[in-house]
Amino acid sequence: WDEEYDIVIIGSGFAGLSAAIEAGKVCPSVIVLEKMPAPGGNSSISGGLFAAAASPLQAKDRIIDSPELMLSDMLAAGLELNNKELARIVAENSTEALLWTIKELGVKYKPRLSHLGGHSVARTYNTANTSGSGIIKPMLAKCRDLGIPIRLKTYLTQFILSKSGEMEGVAVREDYLFPNRKSGVLKRIRAKRAVILATGGFSQDKEFRVIQDPKLTEEIESTNHQGATAEGLIAALKASATPIQLSLIQLGPWASRDEEGFGVGSMFSMLAGFPYGILIDVRTGKRFINEQADRKLLVDAMLSSDRESIAIVDQKGGQHASTLDQCLKRGVVKKFESIKELAAANTVPLAPLKETIEVYNSLIEKGRNDAFGKPLPIDLQPIRVPPYYSIRLTPKIHHCMGGIQINAEAQVVHIETHRPISRFYAAGEVTGGVHGASRLGSNAIPECIIFGRIAGINAAAQKPRP
Ligand code: ADP
Repeated sequence: WDEEYDIVIIGSGFAGLSAAIEAGKVCPSVIVLEKMPAPGGNSSISGGLFAAAASPLQAKDRIIDSPELMLSDMLAAGLELNNKELARIVAENSTEALLWTIKELGVKYKPRLSHLGGHSVARTYNTANTSGSGIIKPMLAKCRDLGIPIRLKTYLTQFILSKSGEMEGVAVREDYLFPNRKSGVLKRIRAKRAVILATGGFSQDKEFRVIQDPKLTEEIESTNHQGATAEGLIAALKASATPIQLSLIQLGPWASRDEEGFGVGSMFSMLAGFPYGILIDVRTGKRFINEQADRKLLVDAMLSSDRESIAIVDQKGGQHASTLDQCLKRGVVKKFESIKELAAANTVPLAPLKETIEVYNSLIEKGRNDAFGKPLPIDLQPIRVPPYYSIRLTPKIHHCMGGIQINAEAQVVHIETHRPISRFYAAGEVTGGVHGASRLGSNAIPECIIFGRIAGINAAAQKPRP
């Protein structure tokens, strides 16, 4: 061995850093290994949305919610392919995890909740800066306070098991230059207590993802950072972890056609376009789905019969997205003084579009049920106040629901014995089963934090090997 620590964590996103903080409070020597030149992974470029059931802001707004309701929303979107025990842990601990980020890390949230698609009620907190970096930065500061090193450009290549099959350590390439897999110096790092895997998903791994879902070919864009590749997951499989539902890969329906990656448009559609506006097919000028459906239903509808989709909101709806100004500056969202101008610029037939908007407005004004089943938020307004905004959408690969199997203690489960692999934990997007067929928006952060903390606490409770 070249080095030795109590606990070795791989990956510096929400899951890895949450594990590090809990482990570091108890253990003198914890290290986080990160292959990229900067920490934070997808977590730091995410929208910073945090779903919490029965939260303080819900109490203030008199929104009735419960972990049971959140769980039933997760199972409905997940088509009951979820591991119910793990999903329940997320729902039941979501508010506690949120309060942990506030009390322990000092994370700042906006004072208003958002209502994301597939959730029965508004239960989503927004970080003050509308980004996951609003949580990652305080997590990194906490790691600094606890003296936990985050070693960058250090790439996990392999797990090392003892003769008896216990997790003993990792082989890495240090000073690795992404994406050159041959770069860097080989090292073996031993873990006296445990190893925690938190390497995230594989949406950017074009070869691996197309094996799992042949529809997700190279040309389809991803919202993920470049480092979201599968080698951490594959290393775990080689160490006898159990794969779960690897072909369940989610596309985000809210991403803009006019910028790369997650960009600034995604949050505009998620927070304004879908809840407070309408989604239409450019060719017909008509709505075709409940804009607040879960991501899978939306993407399936958007991709069927070659639809080209745009979302439309008016001035009042647009105010719900704090990224609006950036979107306008970058040309991702376009602004129009009339529906006529909006229709012409987007080549939408005007008469059917006007009719669509009229029908939608009368639903809201007369309090009628929407034929598509959109749950109308209490503060919903008709689309009537100029200026009007539109965003051109294209689904982009966003989240891997599948991964390796863990149990309620965040232990990695052995593929043959179905028992935990000793001293081996995992958390976050690299694990599978929590979300089933479709992860609801804003459920990833609670999942990563809850299982990251469980992994960190349990790893630190292991007796150190001599
Ligand atoms: P999660 O949300 O599950 O915490 P993230 O994508 O935010 O996932 O973080 C995972 C981190 O793990 C990323 O920063 C990524 O670069 C890192 N990572 C992925 N594969 C490896 C690897 N083989 N070695 C070291 N770090 C890795």
